[in-house]
Amino acid sequence: MNSRRDFLQKLAASAIAMPFLSAYDALGNTDFHLSDNQGPVLRVAIMGLGGYASRVAEAMQSCKRAKITGLISGTPAKLQEWGAKYNVPEKNRYNYENFDNIKDNPDIDAVYVITPNALHHDQVIRVAKAGKHAISEKPMALNAKEGQEMVDACASAGVKLLVGYRMHFEPKTLEVIRMRQAGELGKILFFQGQCGFRIGDPSQWRLNKALAGGGSMMDIGIYAINGARYMVGEEPVWVTAQETKTDTIKFKEGVDETIQFQLGFPSGAVASCLSTYNMNYLDRFFLNGEKGFAELQPSTGYGPIKGRTNKGELTQPHETHQTRQMDEMAGIILDGNKPVVPVDGLEGVRDLKIIDAIYAACASGQRQDLNT
Ligand code: NDP
Repeated sequence: MNSRRDFLQKLAASAIAMPFLSAYDALGNTDFHLSDNQGPVLRVAIMGLGGYASRVAEAMQSCKRAKITGLISGTPAKLQEWGAKYNVPEKNRYNYENFDNIKDNPDIDAVYVITPNALHHDQVIRVAKAGKHAISEKPMALNAKEGQEMVDACASAGVKLLVGYRMHFEPKTLEVIRMRQAGELGKILFFQGQCGFRIGDPSQWRLNKALAGGGSMMDIGIYAINGARYMVGEEPVWVTAQETKTDTIKFKEGVDETIQFQLGFPSGAVASCLSTYNMNYLDRFFLNGEKGFAELQPSTGYGPIKGRTNKGELTQPHETHQTRQMDEMAGIILDGNKPVVPVDGLEGVRDLKIIDAIYAACASGQRQDLNT
Protein backbone atom coordinates (compact mmCIF):
# COMPACT_ATOMS: atom_id res chain seq x y z
CA MET A 1 0.00 0.00 0.00
CA ASN A 2 1.28 3.48 -0.88
CA SER A 3 1.82 5.46 2.32
CA ARG A 4 2.38 9.21 2.47
CA ARG A 5 5.98 8.44 3.51
CA ASP A 6 6.52 6.29 0.38
CA PHE A 7 5.13 9.10 -1.71
CA LEU A 8 7.41 11.67 -0.06
CA GLN A 9 10.43 9.40 -0.57
CA LYS A 10 9.62 9.05 -4.27
CA LEU A 11 9.14 12.79 -4.53
CA ALA A 12 12.48 13.44 -2.84
CA ALA A 13 14.22 10.98 -5.18
CA SER A 14 12.75 12.66 -8.25
CA ALA A 15 13.71 16.09 -6.88
CA ILE A 16 17.37 15.00 -6.72
CA ALA A 17 17.24 14.24 -10.44
CA MET A 18 15.85 17.70 -11.22
CA PRO A 19 17.93 20.88 -11.24
CA PHE A 20 15.52 22.42 -8.73
CA LEU A 21 12.04 21.79 -7.39
CA SER A 22 9.17 23.16 -9.39
CA ALA A 23 7.24 26.01 -7.77
CA TYR A 24 4.39 23.81 -6.65
CA ASP A 25 5.13 20.20 -5.95
CA ALA A 26 2.55 17.44 -5.95
CA LEU A 27 1.67 18.19 -2.33
CA GLY A 28 1.09 21.87 -3.04
CA ASN A 29 4.11 22.86 -0.96
CA THR A 30 6.00 25.98 -1.88
CA ASP A 31 9.46 25.27 -0.54
CA PHE A 32 11.74 27.04 -2.99
CA HIS A 33 15.19 25.71 -2.28
CA LEU A 34 17.55 24.54 -4.94
CA SER A 35 18.84 21.01 -4.75
CA ASP A 36 22.29 21.97 -6.03
CA ASN A 37 23.33 24.27 -3.18
CA GLN A 38 22.91 27.53 -5.07
CA GLY A 39 20.77 28.93 -2.28
CA PRO A 40 17.15 29.96 -2.06
CA VAL A 41 15.06 31.00 -5.04
CA LEU A 42 13.66 34.54 -5.44
CA ARG A 43 9.88 34.18 -5.74
CA VAL A 44 8.67 36.88 -8.10
CA ALA A 45 5.23 38.26 -8.92
CA ILE A 46 5.11 39.90 -12.34
CA MET A 47 2.96 43.02 -12.61
CA GLY A 48 1.68 44.10 -16.05
CA LEU A 49 1.43 41.15 -18.41
CA GLY A 50 2.33 42.90 -21.67
CA GLY A 51 4.98 42.58 -24.35
CA TYR A 52 8.12 42.87 -22.27
CA ALA A 53 6.69 40.86 -19.36
CA SER A 54 6.10 38.00 -21.83
CA ARG A 55 9.79 38.04 -22.74
CA VAL A 56 10.84 38.17 -19.09
CA ALA A 57 8.50 35.32 -18.15
CA GLU A 58 9.82 33.07 -20.93
CA ALA A 59 13.42 33.87 -19.98
CA MET A 60 12.71 33.14 -16.33
CA GLN A 61 11.86 29.55 -17.22
CA SER A 62 15.63 29.00 -17.51
CA CYS A 63 16.53 30.80 -14.28
CA LYS A 64 18.26 28.86 -11.54
CA ARG A 65 17.55 31.33 -8.76
CA ALA A 66 14.31 33.14 -9.71
CA LYS A 67 10.83 31.79 -10.22
CA ILE A 68 7.43 33.26 -11.13
CA THR A 69 5.09 32.68 -8.19
CA GLY A 70 2.60 35.52 -8.58
CA LEU A 71 0.82 37.56 -11.26
CA ILE A 72 -0.74 41.03 -11.16
CA SER A 73 -2.82 42.22 -14.09
CA GLY A 74 -5.80 44.36 -15.02
CA THR A 75 -6.93 41.76 -17.55
CA PRO A 76 -8.68 38.73 -16.00
CA ALA A 77 -8.18 36.59 -19.13
CA LYS A 78 -4.40 37.09 -18.94
CA LEU A 79 -4.37 36.07 -15.29
CA GLN A 80 -6.09 32.86 -16.26
CA GLU A 81 -3.90 32.17 -19.29
CA TRP A 82 -0.61 33.05 -17.59
CA GLY A 83 -1.67 31.28 -14.40
CA ALA A 84 -2.15 28.06 -16.31
CA LYS A 85 1.00 28.50 -18.41
CA TYR A 86 3.33 29.31 -15.51
CA ASN A 87 1.63 27.19 -12.86
CA VAL A 88 0.64 30.12 -10.64
CA PRO A 89 -2.36 29.20 -8.45
CA GLU A 90 -5.39 31.48 -8.19
CA LYS A 91 -4.50 32.54 -4.65
CA ASN A 92 -1.35 34.19 -6.05
CA ARG A 93 -3.13 36.15 -8.81
CA TYR A 94 -4.05 39.79 -8.20
CA ASN A 95 -5.38 42.87 -9.97
CA TYR A 96 -4.36 46.53 -9.56
CA GLU A 97 -7.04 47.11 -6.92
CA ASN A 98 -6.22 44.26 -4.56
CA PHE A 99 -2.47 43.64 -4.98
CA ASP A 100 -1.70 45.29 -1.62
CA ASN A 101 -2.86 41.95 -0.22
CA ILE A 102 0.44 40.38 -1.30
CA LYS A 103 1.61 41.50 2.13
CA ASP A 104 -0.09 38.39 3.50
CA ASN A 105 1.26 36.06 0.82
CA PRO A 106 4.39 34.17 1.90
CA ASP A 107 4.88 32.77 -1.65
CA ILE A 108 6.00 36.19 -2.97
CA ASP A 109 9.35 37.84 -2.14
CA ALA A 110 9.46 40.50 -4.87
CA VAL A 111 7.30 42.18 -7.50
CA TYR A 112 8.66 42.99 -10.96
CA VAL A 113 6.74 46.08 -12.20
CA ILE A 114 6.53 45.98 -16.03
CA THR A 115 3.74 48.49 -16.67
CA PRO A 116 3.78 51.84 -18.57
CA ASN A 117 6.36 54.28 -17.16
CA ALA A 118 3.95 56.64 -15.37
CA LEU A 119 2.58 53.82 -13.23
CA HIS A 120 5.90 52.60 -11.78
CA HIS A 121 6.06 55.25 -9.04
CA ASP A 122 2.78 54.49 -7.27
CA GLN A 123 2.97 50.75 -7.92
CA VAL A 124 6.49 50.40 -6.50
CA ILE A 125 5.53 52.41 -3.41
CA ARG A 126 2.53 50.11 -2.85
CA VAL A 127 4.77 47.06 -3.27
CA ALA A 128 7.17 48.49 -0.67
CA LYS A 129 4.31 49.18 1.73
CA ALA A 130 3.28 45.54 1.33
CA GLY A 131 6.76 44.61 2.58
CA LYS A 132 7.99 43.09 -0.70
CA HIS A 133 11.14 43.87 -2.69
CA ALA A 134 10.52 45.79 -5.92
CA ILE A 135 12.10 45.55 -9.35
CA SER A 136 10.96 48.41 -11.60
CA GLU A 137 11.34 48.51 -15.34
CA LYS A 138 13.18 51.46 -16.84
CA PRO A 139 12.66 54.36 -16.70
CA MET A 140 11.94 53.79 -13.01
CA ALA A 141 9.79 56.96 -12.93
CA LEU A 142 8.98 60.09 -14.92
CA ASN A 143 11.51 62.33 -13.17
CA ALA A 144 14.19 62.29 -10.49
CA LYS A 145 11.86 63.57 -7.75
CA GLU A 146 9.49 60.63 -8.26
CA GLY A 147 12.44 58.24 -8.44
CA GLN A 148 13.82 59.52 -5.14
CA GLU A 149 10.39 59.06 -3.51
CA MET A 150 10.45 55.41 -4.61
CA VAL A 151 13.97 54.98 -3.18
CA ASP A 152 12.86 56.56 0.11
CA ALA A 153 9.69 54.45 0.33
CA CYS A 154 11.64 51.22 -0.19
CA ALA A 155 14.31 52.28 2.33
CA SER A 156 11.75 53.07 5.00
CA ALA A 157 9.91 49.78 4.34
CA GLY A 158 13.22 47.89 4.62
CA VAL A 159 12.91 46.36 1.14
CA LYS A 160 15.26 46.49 -1.84
CA LEU A 161 14.54 48.43 -5.01
CA LEU A 162 16.20 47.40 -8.27
CA VAL A 163 15.77 48.71 -11.83
CA GLY A 164 15.59 46.34 -14.81
CA TYR A 165 18.96 47.36 -16.28
CA ARG A 166 19.64 44.08 -18.10
CA MET A 167 22.79 45.36 -19.87
CA HIS A 168 24.59 45.58 -16.52
CA PHE A 169 24.93 41.79 -16.61
CA GLU A 170 25.68 41.34 -20.33
CA PRO A 171 29.03 39.56 -20.84
CA LYS A 172 30.51 41.64 -23.71
CA THR A 173 29.46 44.87 -22.00
CA LEU A 174 31.12 43.66 -18.80
CA GLU A 175 34.30 42.80 -20.73
CA VAL A 176 34.57 46.37 -22.09
CA ILE A 177 34.04 47.69 -18.55
CA ARG A 178 36.74 45.34 -17.28
CA MET A 179 39.17 46.52 -19.97
CA ARG A 180 38.47 50.16 -19.16
CA GLN A 181 38.85 49.57 -15.41
CA ALA A 182 42.13 47.69 -16.00
CA GLY A 183 43.50 50.66 -17.94
CA GLU A 184 43.69 48.69 -21.20
CA LEU A 185 41.95 51.51 -23.11
CA GLY A 186 44.01 54.23 -21.44
CA LYS A 187 42.49 57.53 -20.41
CA ILE A 188 38.91 57.68 -21.71
CA LEU A 189 38.30 60.62 -24.03
CA PHE A 190 35.02 60.07 -25.87
CA PHE A 191 31.81 58.02 -25.92
CA GLN A 192 29.19 57.88 -28.62
CA GLY A 193 25.77 56.30 -27.99
CA GLN A 194 23.21 56.00 -30.76
CA CYS A 195 19.87 54.55 -29.67
CA GLY A 196 16.69 54.53 -31.66
CA PHE A 197 14.05 52.83 -33.75
CA ARG A 198 11.11 53.88 -35.87
CA ILE A 199 8.04 53.63 -33.69
CA GLY A 200 4.79 52.28 -35.19
CA ASP A 201 1.20 52.55 -33.93
CA PRO A 202 0.54 56.24 -33.08
CA SER A 203 -2.10 55.28 -30.49
CA GLN A 204 0.25 53.29 -28.23
CA TRP A 205 1.00 54.45 -24.65
CA ARG A 206 4.65 55.16 -25.57
CA LEU A 207 3.40 58.19 -27.54
CA ASN A 208 1.07 59.37 -24.76
CA LYS A 209 2.86 61.84 -22.51
CA ALA A 210 0.66 61.06 -19.51
CA LEU A 211 1.69 57.38 -19.55
CA ALA A 212 5.19 57.58 -21.07
CA GLY A 213 6.40 60.82 -19.47
CA GLY A 214 8.02 61.90 -22.75
CA GLY A 215 9.04 60.19 -25.95
CA SER A 216 12.11 58.40 -27.25
CA MET A 217 14.31 59.66 -24.40
CA MET A 218 12.27 57.88 -21.72
CA ASP A 219 12.20 54.65 -23.69
CA ILE A 220 15.39 54.21 -25.71
CA GLY A 221 17.52 57.32 -25.11
CA ILE A 222 17.93 56.23 -21.49
CA TYR A 223 20.19 53.41 -22.77
CA ALA A 224 22.63 55.98 -24.19
CA ILE A 225 22.61 57.91 -20.89
CA ASN A 226 23.09 54.81 -18.78
CA GLY A 227 25.64 53.42 -21.25
CA ALA A 228 27.65 56.66 -21.26
CA ARG A 229 27.92 56.38 -17.47
CA TYR A 230 28.99 52.73 -17.32
CA MET A 231 31.27 52.91 -20.36
CA VAL A 232 33.09 56.12 -19.36
CA GLY A 233 32.94 55.10 -15.68
CA GLU A 234 32.18 58.59 -14.38
CA GLU A 235 29.13 60.71 -13.55
CA PRO A 236 28.54 63.60 -15.99
CA VAL A 237 28.78 67.16 -14.69
CA TRP A 238 27.04 69.00 -17.51
CA VAL A 239 24.63 68.37 -20.36
CA THR A 240 23.62 70.17 -23.56
CA ALA A 241 20.77 68.96 -25.78
CA GLN A 242 18.89 69.78 -28.97
CA GLU A 243 15.49 68.46 -30.05
CA THR A 244 14.23 68.05 -33.60
CA LYS A 245 10.70 67.05 -34.59
CA THR A 246 9.59 66.18 -38.12
CA ASP A 247 6.07 64.91 -37.31
CA THR A 248 4.08 67.04 -34.90
CA ILE A 249 0.92 64.93 -35.30
CA LYS A 250 2.51 61.66 -34.22
CA PHE A 251 4.88 63.26 -31.67
CA LYS A 252 2.68 65.65 -29.74
CA GLU A 253 3.75 68.35 -27.27
CA GLY A 254 5.99 66.78 -24.64
CA VAL A 255 6.64 63.61 -26.68
CA ASP A 256 10.15 63.86 -28.10
CA GLU A 257 10.89 62.35 -31.50
CA THR A 258 14.65 62.96 -31.75
CA ILE A 259 17.08 64.46 -29.26
CA GLN A 260 20.83 64.83 -29.63
CA PHE A 261 22.66 65.42 -26.38
CA GLN A 262 26.17 65.84 -25.10
CA LEU A 263 27.57 65.01 -21.66
CA GLY A 264 30.73 66.31 -20.04
CA PHE A 265 32.60 64.27 -17.42
CA PRO A 266 34.94 65.43 -14.63
CA SER A 267 38.02 63.94 -16.36
CA GLY A 268 37.33 66.01 -19.46
CA ALA A 269 35.84 63.07 -21.41
CA VAL A 270 32.77 63.94 -23.46
CA ALA A 271 29.83 61.94 -24.81
CA SER A 272 27.77 62.62 -27.92
CA CYS A 273 24.46 60.75 -28.09
CA LEU A 274 21.34 60.38 -30.18
CA SER A 275 17.89 59.25 -29.04
CA THR A 276 15.16 58.80 -31.64
CA TYR A 277 11.79 57.25 -32.44
CA ASN A 278 12.23 58.03 -36.12
CA MET A 279 15.26 56.09 -37.41
CA ASN A 280 16.01 52.41 -37.61
CA TYR A 281 19.39 50.64 -37.29
CA LEU A 282 20.56 52.79 -34.40
CA ASP A 283 21.98 50.60 -31.67
CA ARG A 284 25.67 51.43 -31.33
CA PHE A 285 28.15 52.35 -28.59
CA PHE A 286 31.68 53.56 -29.29
CA LEU A 287 34.22 54.21 -26.54
CA ASN A 288 37.52 55.89 -27.31
CA GLY A 289 40.57 56.01 -25.05
CA GLU A 290 44.19 57.08 -25.44
CA LYS A 291 45.35 53.46 -25.80
CA GLY A 292 42.39 51.77 -27.45
CA PHE A 293 38.71 51.67 -28.38
CA ALA A 294 35.64 49.48 -27.94
CA GLU A 295 32.66 49.29 -30.25
CA LEU A 296 29.39 47.46 -29.53
CA GLN A 297 26.85 47.07 -32.34
CA PRO A 298 24.19 46.04 -31.50
CA SER A 299 24.86 47.43 -28.06
CA THR A 300 21.60 47.26 -26.09
CA GLY A 301 19.13 45.16 -28.11
CA TYR A 302 18.16 41.71 -26.91
CA GLY A 303 21.25 40.33 -28.56
CA PRO A 304 23.42 38.66 -29.33
CA ILE A 305 25.44 41.81 -28.65
CA LYS A 306 28.40 42.08 -31.00
CA GLY A 307 31.57 44.02 -30.42
CA ARG A 308 35.23 44.56 -31.05
CA THR A 309 38.06 46.46 -29.49
CA ASN A 310 41.51 47.47 -30.72
CA LYS A 311 42.57 43.97 -29.56
CA GLY A 312 40.01 42.17 -31.74
CA GLU A 313 36.53 40.74 -31.68
CA LEU A 314 34.71 40.22 -28.37
CA THR A 315 33.89 36.53 -28.01
CA GLN A 316 32.03 36.24 -24.69
CA PRO A 317 29.05 33.90 -25.24
CA HIS A 318 25.52 35.27 -25.51
CA GLU A 319 23.17 34.58 -22.62
CA THR A 320 19.49 35.47 -22.67
CA HIS A 321 19.63 38.87 -20.99
CA GLN A 322 16.55 38.50 -18.82
CA THR A 323 17.55 35.03 -17.57
CA ARG A 324 20.92 36.30 -16.43
CA GLN A 325 19.41 39.51 -15.03
CA MET A 326 16.89 37.69 -12.87
CA ASP A 327 19.42 35.16 -11.56
CA GLU A 328 21.81 38.01 -10.71
CA MET A 329 19.02 40.04 -9.11
CA ALA A 330 18.12 37.06 -6.94
CA GLY A 331 21.73 37.06 -5.73
CA ILE A 332 21.56 40.80 -5.03
CA ILE A 333 18.27 40.59 -3.12
CA LEU A 334 18.76 37.31 -1.28
CA ASP A 335 22.54 37.23 -0.73
CA GLY A 336 23.45 40.93 -0.80
CA ASN A 337 25.70 40.44 -3.86
CA LYS A 338 27.17 43.63 -5.35
CA PRO A 339 27.02 43.82 -9.17
CA VAL A 340 29.88 45.41 -11.17
CA VAL A 341 27.50 48.19 -12.26
CA PRO A 342 24.77 48.98 -9.70
CA VAL A 343 21.12 48.28 -10.53
CA ASP A 344 19.62 49.84 -7.42
CA GLY A 345 17.11 52.67 -7.19
CA LEU A 346 19.80 55.34 -6.88
CA GLU A 347 21.24 54.20 -10.21
CA GLY A 348 17.80 54.81 -11.71
CA VAL A 349 17.57 58.25 -10.06
CA ARG A 350 20.96 59.22 -11.55
CA ASP A 351 19.63 58.54 -15.06
CA LEU A 352 16.44 60.48 -14.30
CA LYS A 353 18.42 63.52 -13.12
CA ILE A 354 20.18 63.51 -16.48
CA ILE A 355 16.87 63.09 -18.34
CA ASP A 356 15.42 66.05 -16.38
CA ALA A 357 18.47 68.10 -17.38
CA ILE A 358 18.24 67.02 -21.04
CA TYR A 359 14.62 68.17 -21.25
CA ALA A 360 15.57 71.44 -19.49
CA ALA A 361 18.44 71.95 -21.94
CA CYS A 362 16.14 71.34 -24.93
CA ALA A 363 13.58 73.82 -23.59
CA SER A 364 16.06 76.55 -22.66
CA GLY A 365 18.83 76.01 -25.18
CA GLN A 366 21.20 76.38 -22.23
CA ARG A 367 23.85 74.04 -20.89
CA GLN A 368 22.69 72.45 -17.62
CA ASP A 369 25.08 71.72 -14.78
CA LEU A 370 24.56 68.44 -12.98
CA ASN A 371 25.44 67.35 -9.50
CA THR A 372 24.40 63.71 -9.67
P1 NDP B 1 3.11 46.81 -23.09
O1 NDP B 1 2.16 47.85 -23.55
O2 NDP B 1 3.41 45.69 -24.01
O3 NDP B 1 2.61 46.18 -21.72
C1 NDP B 1 2.28 46.98 -20.62
C2 NDP B 1 1.27 46.24 -19.76
O4 NDP B 1 1.00 47.05 -18.60
C3 NDP B 1 -0.09 46.03 -20.41
O5 NDP B 1 -0.15 44.86 -21.21
C4 NDP B 1 -1.01 45.94 -19.23
O6 NDP B 1 -0.95 44.63 -18.70
C5 NDP B 1 -0.34 46.83 -18.19
N1 NDP B 1 -1.03 48.12 -18.04
C6 NDP B 1 -1.54 48.60 -16.87
N2 NDP B 1 -2.10 49.78 -17.07
C7 NDP B 1 -1.97 50.09 -18.36
C8 NDP B 1 -2.36 51.21 -19.15
N3 NDP B 1 -3.01 52.26 -18.62
N4 NDP B 1 -2.05 51.20 -20.47
C9 NDP B 1 -1.38 50.18 -21.02
N5 NDP B 1 -0.98 49.08 -20.30
C10 NDP B 1 -1.28 49.04 -18.99
O7 NDP B 1 4.45 47.59 -22.70
P2 NDP B 1 5.91 46.96 -22.55
O8 NDP B 1 5.81 45.64 -21.93
O9 NDP B 1 6.63 47.08 -23.84
O10 NDP B 1 6.60 48.01 -21.54
C11 NDP B 1 6.34 47.98 -20.14
C12 NDP B 1 7.53 48.59 -19.38
O11 NDP B 1 8.69 47.81 -19.67
C13 NDP B 1 7.88 50.02 -19.79
O12 NDP B 1 8.26 50.76 -18.66
C14 NDP B 1 9.05 49.87 -20.75
O13 NDP B 1 9.93 50.98 -20.77
C15 NDP B 1 9.74 48.64 -20.16
N6 NDP B 1 10.48 47.87 -21.17
C16 NDP B 1 11.76 47.50 -20.88
C17 NDP B 1 12.50 46.79 -21.79
C18 NDP B 1 13.88 46.35 -21.44
O14 NDP B 1 14.58 45.84 -22.32
N7 NDP B 1 14.32 46.51 -20.21
C19 NDP B 1 11.95 46.44 -23.10
C20 NDP B 1 10.57 46.82 -23.30
C21 NDP B 1 9.88 47.52 -22.35
P3 NDP B 1 -2.22 43.94 -17.97
O15 NDP B 1 -3.25 43.80 -19.06
O16 NDP B 1 -1.67 42.67 -17.50
O17 NDP B 1 -2.65 44.87 -16.87
